[in-house]
Amino acid sequence: MYIRLGSTLLFLALATSGMAQTKFQPEDTEFYSPKPRIVSVQHNVPSDAIVLFDGKNLDQWTSRKTPDQAAAWSIENDILTVKPGTGDIQTKQQFENFQLHVEWKSPTVIKGDGQGRGNSGIFLQGLYEIQVLDNDNNPTYVNGQAGSIYKQRPPLVEVRASEDKWHRYDIIYNAPRFNEDGMLIKKANVTVLHNGVLVQHNTPIEGTTEYIGLPKMEAHGAGPIVLQDHGDLVSFRNIWIRPL
Ligand code: MG
Repeated sequence: MYIRLGSTLLFLALATSGMAQTKFQPEDTEFYSPKPRIVSVQHNVPSDAIVLFDGKNLDQWTSRKTPDQAAAWSIENDILTVKPGTGDIQTKQQFENFQLHVEWKSPTVIKGDGQGRGNSGIFLQGLYEIQVLDNDNNPTYVNGQAGSIYKQRPPLVEVRASEDKWHRYDIIYNAPRFNEDGMLIKKANVTVLHNGVLVQHNTPIEGTTEYIGLPKMEAHGAGPIVLQDHGDLVSFRNIWIRPL
């Protein structure tokens, strides 16, 4: 026998020996509510996404160092480019769990080597960096190449740019959870598709991105999306997020 409770089907097995096995009909395991919300997609942007940058302005962003000041990066032809020396930029809004879409492009003029070539990054909750780097014929430590969780986990594979030189990141992120005493009870984890190719698969994040030393894990709440000014002319376009 079974009892239907809203969308939950609670099955009670009849354990009495000798009893005939419960016979189900197909409709016994079909339910109709709650209904998934309808999301349409226009120009590759889901209708329920928060658009963080669509080529027009940086209204959704501030300077990271001085959050009461506007983000000072440049916009030209609907493309956002790092203005070296002005510092990282961050979203005004804070996020917990999300699906994030970011497109980026390495500088047209190739200069520098290793971490000094086309370096930027996307910090999840302002703390955990998904690396942006010009990987093309540019050896560096693998947990610092594009698609890595910087200084923690290399990407599963190294993905090249599409023909127009643009890269796409689709990032699905679950924030860490802490108890009331600030103890970590669940690590953050992240899945990243790089140009549609899986490069991080539900990867646990060990803690903050540190250039020197080990990751740190301190209790925190919602945080912004941060784009890194590493001194290189990396460009961005089509940035949107769906809180989950
Ligand atoms: Mg970086």
